[in-house]
Amino acid sequence: MFGNKVPWIGTDRIINMALGNSGLPSFLTSKLDVAIGWARKYSIFQYPFVTACCGMEYMATACSHYDVDRFGAGLPRFSPRQADVLFVVGTISHKMAPVLKTIYDQMCDPKWVVAFGVCTCTGGFYDNYATVMGIDTIIPVDVYIPGCPPRPETVLDGLIKLQEKIQHQRQEIV
Ligand code: SF4
Repeated sequence: MFGNKVPWIGTDRIINMALGNSGLPSFLTSKLDVAIGWARKYSIFQYPFVTACCGMEYMATACSHYDVDRFGAGLPRFSPRQADVLFVVGTISHKMAPVLKTIYDQMCDPKWVVAFGVCTCTGGFYDNYATVMGIDTIIPVDVYIPGCPPRPETVLDGLIKLQEKIQHQRQEIV
């Protein structure tokens, strides 16, 4: 059924099987969740999907003055298979939408999506047949960064909110 691959049944189930019902398993899995969450939030490999003017602000944020390296997010990857956070930066047209969906599907699990700028969040001031009215109509979004374009400080705020989300979610091991 699974070919040569053994399906992962989850950290908590493995520890439960090893330790029985002593009360230790839930303690261990919650501590393990904290450790994995901490590691994941400080090792963000972002894929920048840049299509429009917000890209300038993205570059400004990535430069030394704002220094996203402090947040463990300073190394963009240009292959979706090596990335776990998708930064969608700029206007998305309907022609571009299938490409965005394919890139999202190719990314590693677990993965997160940041909508960067008002065009990405809602379509912005575009009200026409060509523009997608928010990328959450195509892929799930974890953090919305408002602004046209957002200031680098707003971007850093969004990045910190993403880190909080990563830290506090249940850590699936895939
Ligand atoms: S939000 Fe503003 S700056 Fe960003 S892509 Fe849209 S029009 Fe350009």
